[in-house]
Amino acid sequence: MELYPPSPTSSSSPRSPSPHQHQQPSSPPRIRRLEASVVNRIAAGEVIQRPSAAVKELVENSLDAASTSVSVSVKDGGLKLLLVSDDGHGIRYEDLPILCERHTTSKLSTYEDLQTIKSMGFRGEALASMTYVGHVTVTTITEGQLHGYRVSYRDGVMEHEPKPCAAVKGTQIMVENLFYNMAARRKTLQNSNDDYPKIVDLISRFAVHHMNVNFSCRKYGSNRADVHTVGGTSRLDTIRTVYGASVARDLMEISVSDDNPARSIFKMEGFISNSNYVAKKTTMILFINDRLVDCTALKRAVELVYSATLPKASKPFIYMSINLPPEHVDVNIHPTKREVSLLDQDSLIDTIQSAVESKLMSSNSTRIFQTQAVSSSLPTTQISTRKDKEHNIANSGTQLQKVPVNQMVRTDPRNPFGRLHSYWKDEAQSSKQEKKSDLVSMRSVVVARRNWKENADFTSIDQLLRETDSNVHPGLLDIVKDCTYIGLADEVFALLQYNTYLYLVNVVNVSKELMYQQVLRRFSKFNAIQLSEPAPLRDLLLMALKDEELETRGDETETDDDLKEKIAQMNIELLKEKEDMLEDYFGIKMEDGCLIRLPVILDQYIPDMDRIPEFLLSLANDVDWDDERECFQTISAVLANFYAIHPPILPNPSGDGIRFYKKNREEAGLDSEILAEKSAVEEEVDEELVAEAETAWSQREWNIQHVLFPSMRLFLKPPKCLATDGTFVQVASLEKLYRVFERC
Ligand code: ADP
Ligand code: MG
Repeated sequence: MELYPPSPTSSSSPRSPSPHQHQQPSSPPRIRRLEASVVNRIAAGEVIQRPSAAVKELVENSLDAASTSVSVSVKDGGLKLLLVSDDGHGIRYEDLPILCERHTTSKLSTYEDLQTIKSMGFRGEALASMTYVGHVTVTTITEGQLHGYRVSYRDGVMEHEPKPCAAVKGTQIMVENLFYNMAARRKTLQNSNDDYPKIVDLISRFAVHHMNVNFSCRKYGSNRADVHTVGGTSRLDTIRTVYGASVARDLMEISVSDDNPARSIFKMEGFISNSNYVAKKTTMILFINDRLVDCTALKRAVELVYSATLPKASKPFIYMSINLPPEHVDVNIHPTKREVSLLDQDSLIDTIQSAVESKLMSSNSTRIFQTQAVSSSLPTTQISTRKDKEHNIANSGTQLQKVPVNQMVRTDPRNPFGRLHSYWKDEAQSSKQEKKSDLVSMRSVVVARRNWKENADFTSIDQLLRETDSNVHPGLLDIVKDCTYIGLADEVFALLQYNTYLYLVNVVNVSKELMYQQVLRRFSKFNAIQLSEPAPLRDLLLMALKDEELETRGDETETDDDLKEKIAQMNIELLKEKEDMLEDYFGIKMEDGCLIRLPVILDQYIPDMDRIPEFLLSLANDVDWDDERECFQTISAVLANFYAIHPPILPNPSGDGIRFYKKNREEAGLDSEILAEKSAVEEEVDEELVAEAETAWSQREWNIQHVLFPSMRLFLKPPKCLATDGTFVQVASLEKLYRVFERC
């Protein structure tokens, strides 16, 4: 690059005329007709952009020729040699002279044929193109002939008369020295990564779709094939052969179709990865009317479902075969026929997207939830003078939902009713070292539940479901189905956009309603959340009762605690009586006075375990056990209230909430020594508590965005009352907002 302006001498030196210089507008450059060979070479460069593109054309020709076996050999990433052999119907002797001319094809004669064309080729350009940028030799034999023919082509024409030769059934096409006459292309391909992996990838895709064809792909001269399939197995087996058992293991079959001319007409079948599959890159194998194509919009739509539904940042594996009326596909929009354009594309993508979403959400595959437990050792020291009332709200908070419920139950005999604040304090006083070593990872596994009484006739459940159906608010339903989540406005309200409107939605109410409806839908068919250890009902109930103000009945001998103990025992007995029903219908398993399992109401979602005590108390007291319908309805409501996405019990440490975590120096009744020691310890506790609270709050926000909203779109039938009780509130119309901005 020149840094200085050219000297006057150089600028005045004469320059050779060039078409880009318009110094003399009176003499425009001459227009000449390009030589046919130049035109053809330019065109060839478009169709055959790289060796893998040539392989795609050759393999498609083999498939068009009804082959049952296709093998590919590649040398030097395809630049030196490409060899594709098939056992198809071969090429007639009399067609050989024009085989490699441009626009010669056996697959199409009128333009209208394009509308219904089934073959992959139809332009008659691929072979011709190859002869302009490489050396092509064809060996072929047709049925009933004693020998075959071999002939080489260059620039679209035969180099010699076809020579008779021995041949096995089908056609073998060899392309040598690809791009020998395109120095720049050859160079970039040589510099860039070898095209061989692309070819392997391509053959893998064909192999998965054409599972009745034997494919092989190898480096020339190698004994080992990098793809090798044997036709006649199942699709999943083929995927296993090609992509490995680890991929096949995590796939689910999916199919969806639409037959509504007002929307779209198509049928889709395929396999998609489940939530256990882990990959950094999306693999999307897409065939539309048996053509291997790309559809970026569909790929994005599916990727979106995965990122919105799964906590792991894994990209999916997808194989989809879509069939639609041939006249609905425009195959002719791209020289390599790679991108296709579809009629009703948006609606088709929508339908497929929802199918993938519900498949993912309702997949019954066993999910493993990782939970973490804090120390299970009992506290050893206690500050006996402390009274609960003196503690700030942060300290009275219980633990996070990540902690298995059994760890939340205090079993210290000296303080049987102690809530977790004491647990936290005491825990903090044990040495940090010890605490670390006590941090254990525990797993709760969702175990598949037997589908008990699947066909049983539960009229009352049907009735309740019908009620939700008939009570739907159509306007809200539209909003729920098509809204976009924007973010949380505060602890209870989320902001969402629907068309040009903004709404505030009460997350607690809406999740409660969703959970209620899901309980009815999953009635007696729940998957289960297994607690890592049985949780004693008595302790849980006492925890819940602790905050209840009981009316003492003037009976001097009966203390408050005795009364609570009595109530707890009564509740335990009642729950024990209903044990079987609760387990079979609602997936709430209790055994030997302990809670063992809870139902999965929304996949991927574990309720806030802090709420178990209140849940049990409510289950024992708020359920109408007499009438079947009332009973099912009230149990569903109690479960819904438990599973609803409430704000975590620990206050939100961001913003104002942080003051709850500040050190509390005004402890009464402690001498200064203990106080000093305590506050030093407390500082530590606070930080940890803040961290835990932050996790709880961000986990909740994640749940709202990635679990609640996607499931709400799929499953919620919003009842009419939500429109008037402040659950949905329209806050602004964007149109009006924009108008305001325009004026500014
Ligand atoms: P197109 O596939 O678009 O028709 P091509 O240039 O790829 O154009 O092929 C031209 C013609 O050559 C095809 O229409 C087909 O009749 C014939 N042909 C090419 N490859 C094979 C093959 N492997 N087996 C049989 N016929 C073939
Ligand atoms: Mg072709």
